[in-house]
Amino acid sequence: MDMMADPSIRFGRPTVAEIDLDALGHNYRQIRKRIPQKAKILGVVKADAYGHGALPVSLALEKLGVQYLGVAMVEEGIQLRKGGAKAPILILGGSFAEEADRVLKFDLTPVVFQKESLEHLSKAARTRRKKLRVHLKVDTGMGRLGVPLSLWPDFLKETKKFPETEVEGILSHFSMTDEDGGEYSARQWQEFQKALAVAKGMGISCRYVHIANSGNLTAFPSYAGNLVRPGIMLYGSYPSRSCQNLIQLKPLMTFKTRIHFLKSVPSGTKISYGGTFTTQRESLIATLPVGYGDGYRWNLSNRGEVLVRGKRAPVVGRVCMDYVVVDVTAIPGVGEGDEVVLMGRQGGERITAEEIAEKVGSISYEVLCSIGKRVPRIYKA
Ligand SMILES: *Cc1c(COP(=O)(O)O)cnc(C)c1O
Repeated sequence: MDMMADPSIRFGRPTVAEIDLDALGHNYRQIRKRIPQKAKILGVVKADAYGHGALPVSLALEKLGVQYLGVAMVEEGIQLRKGGAKAPILILGGSFAEEADRVLKFDLTPVVFQKESLEHLSKAARTRRKKLRVHLKVDTGMGRLGVPLSLWPDFLKETKKFPETEVEGILSHFSMTDEDGGEYSARQWQEFQKALAVAKGMGISCRYVHIANSGNLTAFPSYAGNLVRPGIMLYGSYPSRSCQNLIQLKPLMTFKTRIHFLKSVPSGTKISYGGTFTTQRESLIATLPVGYGDGYRWNLSNRGEVLVRGKRAPVVGRVCMDYVVVDVTAIPGVGEGDEVVLMGRQGGERITAEEIAEKVGSISYEVLCSIGKRVPRIYKA
């Protein structure tokens, strides 16, 4: 293969994350098909779009017709605005006092669940002579952010004291999917309906009502409200095993590198720090220019597998900060420069974020978010 012609090595070190924006379109359309016609989509792009690159993903989502973008924090919203994102941006985690002016300046929509933040935001809105849209969050069983139901009526009363703010949405957040057969979600949905009724009774009507993340919009599409908030499924990963039969998704990310160095070693050779692996035969040992410093988890030591020439090869010894060693003895024709897929598809084989998560005792979300800053993202559409 002519390696110079391969765009994935234009950065020198061949360790890259390829992001397939066509797959994003596929996943978006699958979600669209699953939710009620009237429901709009808020694409969750927090934590750098779960490691996929917040700006390119957001701009692609805008083209696909997303109604809203969602980030965790104000700074993430500002980065999107600076990069040219035009869609409304919801700050899911709310804003801190110091950020109130920037919320206004960059036209962000904060989630609010504290009277104090209404005060800060209203003050900033008055100064800028702007009206500010906010979404109010009620806790229906997640036990994290959100006004407890018992305080919800009082909180709503407070919001009326701030004419600079306009309630554009009311939201809550599911904490389970169908771990318990869906009972908890059903209860949360009922509590949410109560909270909405209280708001209505106080004359607060709003444009958006939302509660569903990936798991619930898949398992219980009728609990949608008129806006749904998928994150993980946009990236082609499943929030839980039970969702895998309900919707067909395509992973966006291929995390890959190339064999940097290949050598034959005799039987009895110890590999990597701590000598935790000893070859049992004369072996072909490949060193890959990727390590835990790139988000290839240390827990994959002596446990992970990679794809070379369409076949699985085991990680041997400990994963280092900058290197991983694999045993490629069983791969016919293997050579330096061969492409190695750490996560993704190669030939007929594939390694998913879920598979890696299971091996390291984590979840696909964390595996994706962990792919490091020094791994260039390359976009193909
Ligand atoms: C992260 C997040 C989501 C998206 O969750 P997924 O499980 O990735 O779909 C939705 N809503 C809120 C409030 C979140 O924090």
